[in-house]
Amino acid sequence: MVNHKPELSPRQKQILKELGDCDDEMSGQQLHRALQDRSFSMGLTTVYRNLRGLQQKGMVRCRNLPTGEVLYAPVERDQHHLTCVNCGQTMVLRYCPLKNIELPKAQTKNFDLLFHTLEFFGLCKNCSEQKKLPSVTL
Ligand SMILES: [Zn+2]
Ligand SMILES: [Zn+2]
Repeated sequence: MVNHKPELSPRQKQILKELGDCDDEMSGQQLHRALQDRSFSMGLTTVYRNLRGLQQKGMVRCRNLPTGEVLYAPVERDQHHLTCVNCGQTMVLRYCPLKNIELPKAQTKNFDLLFHTLEFFGLCKNCSEQKKLPSVTL
């Protein structure tokens, strides 16, 4: 694997800082607002364009929620999530089950791996209890 130190534009640096300062993941919209609050505002399309650039450099990871929303986080934050398909509540899985996984060399030798995603879906405690209640008409 190549150890690259990519050149970042001032906007990309600011986006990366914003993502790093936030304990949680951020959507493009949230980033857009956070940048505005720091008077570093840029248009929403510019935010998305720079996020894409950061992803291509392997600096930012993203994941897609069932709602279609996309959340971004710094690539070194290797966290995965348990998401409730009913209410969308998310729990962070602090251990990465893929940490030391070996991919078949034959398939990855011509591929510079930057990040991975892994999602778990199910019902949270609340929602599974609600589902068990008799005669609930929706
Ligand atoms: Zn739920
Ligand atoms: Zn992981």
